[in-house]
Amino acid sequence: MMTKEQNFSTEVEALLTEQLKNWPLASKNYEALKTVRSKTFRIDNRFDCRVQFNPGRIQSSAAKVDSRSLRERKCFLCSENLPQEQRGLAFASEYSVLVNPFPIFPRHLTIANLSHVDQRIADRYEDMLDIAKALPDFVVFYNGPKCGASAPDHMHFQAGNKGFLPLERDVRSLARRVIVSKEGISCYSLEEYARTCIVIEASDKASSAQLFRRIYQAVEVENEEEPMLNLLVWYEASKWMTCIFLRKLHRPKCFFAEGEENMLISPASVDMGGVFILPQEKDFNKITAYDVKAILEEVSLSREALLEVFRKIDL
Ligand SMILES: [Zn+2]
Repeated sequence: MMTKEQNFSTEVEALLTEQLKNWPLASKNYEALKTVRSKTFRIDNRFDCRVQFNPGRIQSSAAKVDSRSLRERKCFLCSENLPQEQRGLAFASEYSVLVNPFPIFPRHLTIANLSHVDQRIADRYEDMLDIAKALPDFVVFYNGPKCGASAPDHMHFQAGNKGFLPLERDVRSLARRVIVSKEGISCYSLEEYARTCIVIEASDKASSAQLFRRIYQAVEVENEEEPMLNLLVWYEASKWMTCIFLRKLHRPKCFFAEGEENMLISPASVDMGGVFILPQEKDFNKITAYDVKAILEEVSLSREALLEVFRKIDL
């Protein structure tokens, strides 16, 4: 007999197959993804970052997310605005699993809330854990409203197939600073990673949620709806892995620069997870390992601020 998770995975695979067959936009873009160029940089001889030249992502990277631009566009995640070929698969009572028609991953999903409600994680982290468990072949991710979400006015997660992001290996190989380590839950930060990443490993959903809440509340917030963050969660060996990237900046200086200095990069979960998405060829050709490291450092919460978070959590 198949478990509930196996059943759901089978339905998701069937959805991907159906959409790639019957939806020309998706079919064209997934086909194009097979030939995108990428290159890998080894940084500080500790971890890899890949850069992907992906012209299909231009709208997302350059998305205008100010409230006026949002009001004036039709929300692309509201069911009444979905292209007629797009199908959704219900998850729990609140979400619809959709195939993302502008893929970064060979299998790339968007998990949209059924209602047009703001992108906020506080009350939805447990939903994210449920989704990760139901999709054991995927990494599920959340982009904060000012950390890469191109629909900050419509609650959604995304998911991409496992085996794609360097982060999955980095959590195993990098040095750690341990914050908590006890039966059923551990928490640590990844050291010398050019970005601020806190990892929670938990076999118990409630404990993970409680710790996530403490971290969330310990982050200093100024004029923001929530701490600036990207979140990646996956389920393996009966445990949830949660990687919290705390951010200082939405977009790096080079995003706004003119002329030679300009690079169109708007870091979100995938970039923080080790795959930089560059929709413009000029940027792909000129970017260096030095730039990648500098951008990660620039948009991440500082080391001092992270230590302050740990002091406040006080476990
Ligand atoms: Zn909407």
